[in-house]
Amino acid sequence: MAYTVCLIPGDGIGPAIMEATKLVLSAAGADIDWIELPAGAGAAEEYGDVLPQKTIEAIDHYRIALKGPLTTPIGKGFGSVNVRLRKTFNLYVAVRPVRSMPGIRTRYENVELVVMRENTEGLYSGLEHEIVPGVIETLRITTQAGCERIAKYAFNYAKERERRKVTLFHKANIMKMADGLFIECARRMHELYGQGIDYEELIIDNGCMQIVRDPGRFDVLLLENFNGDIVSDLCAGLVGGLGVVPGANIGDDCAIFEAVHGSAPDIAGKGIANPLALIMSAVMMLNHIGETEPAEKIKNAYDAVLGEGNPAELTGDIGGTAKTMEFAEALARRM
Ligand code: NAD
Repeated sequence: MAYTVCLIPGDGIGPAIMEATKLVLSAAGADIDWIELPAGAGAAEEYGDVLPQKTIEAIDHYRIALKGPLTTPIGKGFGSVNVRLRKTFNLYVAVRPVRSMPGIRTRYENVELVVMRENTEGLYSGLEHEIVPGVIETLRITTQAGCERIAKYAFNYAKERERRKVTLFHKANIMKMADGLFIECARRMHELYGQGIDYEELIIDNGCMQIVRDPGRFDVLLLENFNGDIVSDLCAGLVGGLGVVPGANIGDDCAIFEAVHGSAPDIAGKGIANPLALIMSAVMMLNHIGETEPAEKIKNAYDAVLGEGNPAELTGDIGGTAKTMEFAEALARRM
């Protein structure tokens, strides 16, 4: 039976890595009907909104999407479409597995952790205003419900996936109320849902130092939205960069899969972006909908290509010379 999945190509490198990803999924025999939808700067010209109603309605109906990165203007302009999508569909957790990949040489070996980022509230909401000229106030909203649902998700995930530990990063020594609530909720959820799972709390600056010193001591990381954004990229750096870290935005009955990276304007249009992070996000999506066979095929294919380490089949960010589509074609040849 074919699955219908909404597809947002995205900005910058988005359309190119999405084309590569579609090729790989099709080579793996994944039976998917794609519904291509507009979002981002381009959509505003045609539809008058960076997140057109037709895109919202389609995701609302099909409840599953694969999304390329979307550009957000810096210091001015429209608010993040990514944030709007996560809030609109209540995708309260970003799940980002970070693991050492075969053949990709980095400073660390055997990294195997998962970043769980709260995705709908906190400092990342972009709620700002100017009180008087020269004075800006940025709001951080933290709710008990928001803290509880992500912590509950993290402990359930850890149990289901046979992980050993959840580590919460916080700054409750300074933000005593907001991060204090986050900690309080996580402790309660640990008692209720975390049987057999170790739980620890670290002040985030110390936590970041510990990650770069010994990432192997971490397993599942539980973070507030803004902290989770930063720590995701930090962790990507441990395993070879943003080209190899996938992600899923998950809610109770809707999910949008996307790589951790952005639209990479510095390399957009050159055909050299690594599509692997989006391909891996698509693998997460296939597993999510129960299409485990094509998911396994794709995983075996990229493990093989990376393990063989032929520079002509790898993109530049991971030490090769291949173009975006050449990497995808190399995967397709292994299936
Ligand atoms: P970025 O992730 O786009 O790029 C950071 C660096 O990593 C760049 O040097 C880039 O070339 C490299 N990189 C990223 N993805 C790569 C890939 N697949 N292959 C090879 N190299 C890759 O971050 P940025 O430059 O800070 O942000 C650019 C834009 O993306 C901004 O508008 C930002 O708001 C947006 N953004 C969107 C998302 C999203 O859609 N979820 C996430 C992060 C950033």
